[in-house]
Amino acid sequence: MTAPERELPFYQPVGDECELFEAAWRQQLPVLIKGPTGCGKTRFVAHMAARLNLPLITVSCHDDLTAADLVGRHLIGDGATYWVDGPLTRAVREGGICYLDEVVEARKDTTVVLHPLTDDRRVLPIERTGELLQAPKNFMLVVSYNPGYQHVLKSLKPSTRQRFVALAFDFPRPEVETAVLKQESGLDDARIAQLVTLAGQLRRLAGYDLEEGVSTRLLVYAAKLMAAGMAPRRACRTALVEPLSDDTDTVAALAAIVDAQF
Ligand code: ADP
Repeated sequence: MTAPERELPFYQPVGDECELFEAAWRQQLPVLIKGPTGCGKTRFVAHMAARLNLPLITVSCHDDLTAADLVGRHLIGDGATYWVDGPLTRAVREGGICYLDEVVEARKDTTVVLHPLTDDRRVLPIERTGELLQAPKNFMLVVSYNPGYQHVLKSLKPSTRQRFVALAFDFPRPEVETAVLKQESGLDDARIAQLVTLAGQLRRLAGYDLEEGVSTRLLVYAAKLMAAGMAPRRACRTALVEPLSDDTDTVAALAAIVDAQF
C-alpha cells in the first residue's frame, strides 16, 4: 500500500530558496531563516516538509520556553513518575523537520540543547534520563527569527548562528506578491495590482513612522476581505492600517495613502 499523496501547501518561490533548502536537507545541514514577520517563512517550511515528504513539528517559541519544553520532562501520575518527550525529542526519535519559529524568543538555556544537534555529532543528550539520542538521517532542524525585532538581549549568539545555513527572506517582489495574493484570495487582477502598489508605498514608510513594513500576510487579509465583498478602503483600513500602528497621526497618514490608491 502506498502512503496517500500529501497536499502541497502553496508556496511561490522568490529565488532559489527551495533548491537551497533541499541541498541543505540532503547534506544534513541545519537551516536558519531570517526575515520580517508575515513574509512566508512558515509557509515555506510547510511547503518544503510536504515536498520532501517529511513530518513537520513546529514550535512557536516564546519568552517562557525552556529547554525542558523542547526536550521533555518527568510527569507524575498514579503515584509514579513517567517521562514525556518534548517536541524536539519526538522529532529526533521519529525523524522529520523540527521548526522552531521565532527562536530568539526562547530562554537562553534552549540553545544549549540545540548545539550538539547542529554539528556533525547530530546528537541530543537528555540529561534527565541519561539518554544520548542520535538523530536519524531524515532529521532536520530549522529555526527562524525576525532580525527587525532584535534588541541586545534578544539576538542569536554568533556561536549559535554560525551553526546554521542562513536564508534571508524579505517581502516578495511585486510579481511574486501578485501571484501570492491571487492564489490566496482569488481577488480580481485589477484590485490585486492596486494592493501591491499600495504595499510598496506603505513599505517606504517603514523605519520612519513604522517599526516594520506591511506584511504579505496582512495584504492577503485585505485581499480576502475585498474578495468577500468589503469596500476596498474599509478592507485596507481594517487589514493594513490599524494593525500597523496605534499612533493616531500615523494611522491618519496611512489611511490617506490608502484613500489615494482606492
Ligand atoms: P512568517 O514569515 O511570519 O512565518 P507566513 O509564512 O505565516 O509568515 O506567511 C504569512 C502568509 O503570507 C501566508 O499564510 C501566505 O498566505 C502568505 N505568503 C507570504 N509569502 C508567500 C509565498 N512566497 N508563497 C505563498 N504564500 C505566501
